Amino acid sequence: MDSLSVVKQIQPVLVTNEKGIYCPKGDFYIDPWKPVKNAIVTHAHADHLRFGNKNYIVTNKSLSVTRHRLSKDETKGKIIAYEYDENFDFNGVTVSFHPAGHILGSAQVRVEIGNQVAVASGDYKRSQDPTCQPFELQKCDQFISEATFGLPIYRWRDGSHIGQQMIDWWRRNADENRP
Ligand SMILES: [Zn+2]
Repeated sequence: MDSLSVVKQIQPVLVTNEKGIYCPKGDFYIDPWKPVKNAIVTHAHADHLRFGNKNYIVTNKSLSVTRHRLSKDETKGKIIAYEYDENFDFNGVTVSFHPAGHILGSAQVRVEIGNQVAVASGDYKRSQDPTCQPFELQKCDQFISEATFGLPIYRWRDGSHIGQQMIDWWRRNADENRP
């Protein structure tokens, strides 16, 4: 058996289907875009934390924002929270959250089955951000990267520069008595 046929026989840790990124062995989704039983949620932004799921698994640091946002969800799903680096189990699949540096509580999701490790990044940022824990690189065999602003046309300046632009804009408005 050549190495290519070995690779083909390994069942992927994470796959995608019509509801989102799915772990067949663990029977959970990561940031599903349709309602599911088990939703592991990378962070509390609306395009990742969607309504209608039965169980929400989130980081402890995003718990209060998650609770607040889901209070408007009629489905009233159950929320379960874990610390960064804390292992939890889904049908023999080891899962953990790791800082993504995007917003407070944002996480990459690490999924381990046997000796295979997959990581779904969620939104992430590698530059410094005083509002959240910095991105932590994870070793893995499969990396699923968010790329919302990944096109080369996006060239972001340093966060302190953008912050100064916002302050200047706010001052201009205040000087002109505009709310
Ligand atoms: Zn986000």
